[in-house]
Amino acid sequence: MANIPPNKSRTVYVNGEYVSETEAKISIFDRGFLFADGVYEVSSVLRGQLVDNAAHMARLERSLHALQMRAPATAQDITAAMKRLIRENKLDEGLIYLQVTRGVADRDFGFPASDVPSTLVMFPQSKSLIKSPTAETGIKVIFMEDIRWGRRDIKTIQLLAPVLAKQAAAEAGKQDAWLVQDGYITEGSSNNAYIVKDGKIITRQLSNSILHGITRRAVIDLADILHMHVIERAFTPDEARQADEAFITSASTFVFPVVEIDGEKIGDGTPGRIAPRLREIYIKNALENLE
Ligand code: PMP
Repeated sequence: MANIPPNKSRTVYVNGEYVSETEAKISIFDRGFLFADGVYEVSSVLRGQLVDNAAHMARLERSLHALQMRAPATAQDITAAMKRLIRENKLDEGLIYLQVTRGVADRDFGFPASDVPSTLVMFPQSKSLIKSPTAETGIKVIFMEDIRWGRRDIKTIQLLAPVLAKQAAAEAGKQDAWLVQDGYITEGSSNNAYIVKDGKIITRQLSNSILHGITRRAVIDLADILHMHVIERAFTPDEARQADEAFITSASTFVFPVVEIDGEKIGDGTPGRIAPRLREIYIKNALENLE
């Protein structure tokens, strides 16, 4: 029973074909499977339309370029395929997952011949994004050492470190882990991390150490418009524990308050004022700019 997928009736996309998820096939020689030699994107869907997808496509191109990987199609064609998947699955609210790998070739570390096409796979996931019990309650996080590789700005499918971090959090009865490297928080296991102190929002500056979150960019821009002061700098675990407020952002959560860090209650242990406000503004802005 454990191997039966959650939704057998889904239509998924595999290299130009729209097929039932039970019929979809990928070679065991796919380099994504053998080497995690691939990149991905997750775009959110509201009211059957994409949120900030042009930015996701731009980041996909950047990830592909950084790894010298062939684009499987133009951003325009990929977006058209995403929209067809939304239609065929009657997806109202949720996510489109997209993965590109360096294609199929006999197992050998070096790149395959230049005419080997990339693999492109996409599937929808239905999920309530706007109405979310977790947004009301907030999440609790633990600290974990950041053991990921040095190019976290590339959105690769090699996600074993976040898998272990999420599992450790779950085993500790919490929802996520904030990753720590050289005495500073980098980000959450699958999201960007923020604290609020004395009315100022603090989040780590962009570099190779973190993923350049699409939601991060949007939330920082919106906070600026509202004259909320955002400081982009690294912060320490101690600063996090002593923050007035904390939150995370990602395409699948938008903005979630963080109410406990490493066993310390943040504020009074309930979502503060700024994170719920940013969430509200983010959703309003997303709904006004659906693609
Ligand atoms: N950091 C990491 C490590 C992530 O995996 C994600 C989500 N994939 C994010 C940040 C948030 O990025 P985005 O807002 O583009 O979803």
